[in-house]
Amino acid sequence: MTPSRMEILTWLSDEKPADVAALRARADDVRQAEVGDEIHLRGLVELSNHCIRKCGYCGIRAGNPNITRYRMSAAEVMACATRARELGLGTVVLQSGEDPGLDAEQVAHLIRSIKAMDLAVSLSLGERSDDELRLWRAAGADRYLLRFETSNEELYARVHPDHPGRSRDRLEQLRRMRRLGYEIGTGMLVGLPGQTREDLVDDIMVLGDLDPDMIGIGPFLPHPDTPLGQEMPGDSPTGQVPNTSGITCNVVALARLVCPQANIPSTTALATLDPVQGRESALSCGANVIMPNLTPARYRSLYEIYPGKATPAGECGEEVVALQKRLIEIGRPASVGRGDSPAWLARSRSHEEGGTR
Ligand code: SAH
Repeated sequence: MTPSRMEILTWLSDEKPADVAALRARADDVRQAEVGDEIHLRGLVELSNHCIRKCGYCGIRAGNPNITRYRMSAAEVMACATRARELGLGTVVLQSGEDPGLDAEQVAHLIRSIKAMDLAVSLSLGERSDDELRLWRAAGADRYLLRFETSNEELYARVHPDHPGRSRDRLEQLRRMRRLGYEIGTGMLVGLPGQTREDLVDDIMVLGDLDPDMIGIGPFLPHPDTPLGQEMPGDSPTGQVPNTSGITCNVVALARLVCPQANIPSTTALATLDPVQGRESALSCGANVIMPNLTPARYRSLYEIYPGKATPAGECGEEVVALQKRLIEIGRPASVGRGDSPAWLARSRSHEEGGTR
């Protein structure tokens, strides 16, 4: 049964180990019943770190003079897609800063080429125009990830300033993308300066209303070259949500309860915050997806949205093989195939049958 607002707030405020364990066990049961034991692996390709936005949390924001900017060539992206195929992954995720220099037609061409390899394509390219979203969907893009970051409008405006000519409403863009036939993914940051537990409850209620196909939840990790990375911890008002792995996992568990059939990644930010247990903790309280990084080593360190991004220096792919072994050991083997969310499959079936959505 979907938890109420009061129950969610109680769970987020309660730090008694037995209660936390009960919440996580319940989320794990729902995960197993609704989406099974398999883990879907998505190969992440960070194709450009150019960005016109000035998000207060993000290290690749416009105007950060301390990073070298890059944009991968089509041949480089296709080499990553080939690697994904060889490793048995079913999906490639193309992610970037909000980069108008990524030409819409060139992106469409990449999508068509990757789809021709029988891989699903997810996009995470920021706030883009309807024409672009339509073009990319027609080219075969399957999914789009766009986190709303926080549902507190005042906090959102502070950490994610508007950009002239760009849509400011990410939830509205998500709804439009759903109408275009994308599987939609969204999510939020946990522990943004100024974020309270009530804000997190609102975030979880938004997830319940929107019922996204994918939900990414990660701790906020301060980057020294950003405005939010400069804020002193002592400046935080009381009621501040800590950016810990514990509360992040509890939010993941609650997301599973409100959206039982969503695909929920165990995020890289969580694995960065808690390199020993982060990744597997989320898998044991609701998560069923991992997004290994396939970006070539020479670009990975430049895509520094937060410091210390958990990216082993080894060759692309080595970590994926190790991960696949580990997943078998813990009884949660990697899936073969695309790994669409059951909710999306049901929705598209009812659409084909002329049902309402
Ligand atoms: N330009 C795209 C992709 C951004 S990176 C977009 O805006 O959608 C993907 C996600 O990384 C963001 O949505 C944000 O939630 C997360 N992220 C960015 N900076 C972060 C930080 N300092 N700590 C933790 N997560 C961060």
